[in-house]
Amino acid sequence: MDAIVALAKRRGFIFQSSEIYGGFNGFFDYGPLGSELKKNIRDCWWNDMVRRRDDIVGLESSIIMHPKVWEASGHVAGFTDPLVDCKASKMRYRADQLFFAKVGIHPEPIEFTQADEATRAEYFERLKPRDGRKKVVEPSAKVLEIVAAFRREEEAAARAETVSGEGIGYVSALETERTTAALREKAELLKRKVGARGILVVAKPKDFTDATPEEVALIPSPATGNPGDLTEARSFNMMFQTNVGAMTDAASVSYLRPETAQGMFVDFKNVVDTGRVKLPFGIAQIGKSFRNEITPRNFIFRSREFEQMEMEYFIHEDADWAKCHQEWIEWCRQWLLSIGLPESHLSLYAHPKAKLAFYSKGTVDIMFKYPFGVQELWGIAARGDYDLKQHATASGKPMEYFDELSKKKFVPHVIEPAVGVDRILLAVLCAGYAEEDVKDEKGNVEKRTVLRLSPRIAPVKVAVLPLLKNKETLVGRARALYQKLQRRYAVFYDDGGAIGRRYRRQDEIGTPWCVTIDFDTIEKPGDTFTLRERDSMQQTRITETELFALLEEKVY
Ligand code: ATP
Repeated sequence: MDAIVALAKRRGFIFQSSEIYGGFNGFFDYGPLGSELKKNIRDCWWNDMVRRRDDIVGLESSIIMHPKVWEASGHVAGFTDPLVDCKASKMRYRADQLFFAKVGIHPEPIEFTQADEATRAEYFERLKPRDGRKKVVEPSAKVLEIVAAFRREEEAAARAETVSGEGIGYVSALETERTTAALREKAELLKRKVGARGILVVAKPKDFTDATPEEVALIPSPATGNPGDLTEARSFNMMFQTNVGAMTDAASVSYLRPETAQGMFVDFKNVVDTGRVKLPFGIAQIGKSFRNEITPRNFIFRSREFEQMEMEYFIHEDADWAKCHQEWIEWCRQWLLSIGLPESHLSLYAHPKAKLAFYSKGTVDIMFKYPFGVQELWGIAARGDYDLKQHATASGKPMEYFDELSKKKFVPHVIEPAVGVDRILLAVLCAGYAEEDVKDEKGNVEKRTVLRLSPRIAPVKVAVLPLLKNKETLVGRARALYQKLQRRYAVFYDDGGAIGRRYRRQDEIGTPWCVTIDFDTIEKPGDTFTLRERDSMQQTRITETELFALLEEKVY
């Protein structure tokens, strides 16, 4: 992950927001290459989701909406995260990201006597090679038997998920890719601190939302390590408040939207009445959302200002919602593959029924294997008719659809695929980043950093490189090609340094192709260029017409 963050900064993909003032936690800026990459992700989604489908239309609603929208949607009352404070350090954690485990000591099996313990210690001692001793001493059958029994006990203890009795205490750790390992390390320290003997057992980790009041008092704060410093979990509303108009009073309070979806529900009638749409149909929107996340982290994965691409797909009240839900899950998965994410990094997570909101029929998340763990990338929710009905009740305006076939009026149900642009961008950087050993022209091995981005989203599609910058004919041909390509594609002109170095610079920013204008271009018939492909590093000759055909096929 550190290498990816460093590359993102070094090559102008992503900067910390307000960096000259020390940065601003949870906010980021996209540099010259990052803004291109982000735009390409957005454009691909918009083209595939809206322009290339007959059943989906677009929308751009305002970021600040009537405060009643957020009351009706349930965000004012319920858009909360459970928070835990550390009273001593004043640190604040999200309860569902703070993990704890009870620690105990596995009761020693009765058949192991003190003497057996000594034999076991001796066994390990004998296995150690010593100065001047060539061979280790073979342990006896009896010793081997005892050691095997200990191993079985240790394995059983490692598998145990509960600690019986009081145990020796609790350990806590924040959610990372190695939470379980961190808890185990802390448990080892605790065992040493309390001077316990025997086999250590760490219970299955739970998050703080599952802690009982008795446990809250016993779980140590991750900041101080002391039990008793943490408060119980409390709700915290994640919406950013602002005031609209000259007065700063309760009546002027409004919110920066925490999701784009409400725009589609509030404008549902406007779209139906003007858009010539018929069920089933969708309304899609791309735009900024804001959440006052308590612990923004993992670079741009969880930030306070981010961009969402959401679509509300309205279906008949009697439609087979489960089938439609499945179809959208598959559509979203295929779309992620189409922009180059590897299938091996994607998985599905169905939210357990017990944890769903009362109106929700089902939610499935497409998960991505980030370097910091498998995390939600795209949520696909079947929300029934809840949202439209809420707005109908709160606004007093009907949200019904008139079905010409059945001559019936009803409130449609909805399937909602909602994804963050920033999370996709991070996923493509993580999946595409590689460091490899390659041979240069002289056969020397050197390192190359390469970003394997799909041509669909790569910030630069082609780099045009004249072999020499002081040769008028080469430069003239290169500039003519560059200007022609520029009309349709993001291209880059580079005439500085050795050709190998120039290829490496493009590899690092994910440019799929480099075109070199060389002596064969100007001296031989056919007006061909060297086409160098990023991933295979293979070089072939290509004409201008063929180059445009290649781009037409791959960049869509
Ligand atoms: P999480 O559980 O990770 O907080 P969520 O379930 O609250 O996410 P949704 O409300 O379903 O997320 O939002 C839809 C999508 O918006 C998410 O799948 C994710 O891609 C993106 N998203 C949500 N919160 C953030 C954030 N703080 N930073 C970046 N992207 C986000």
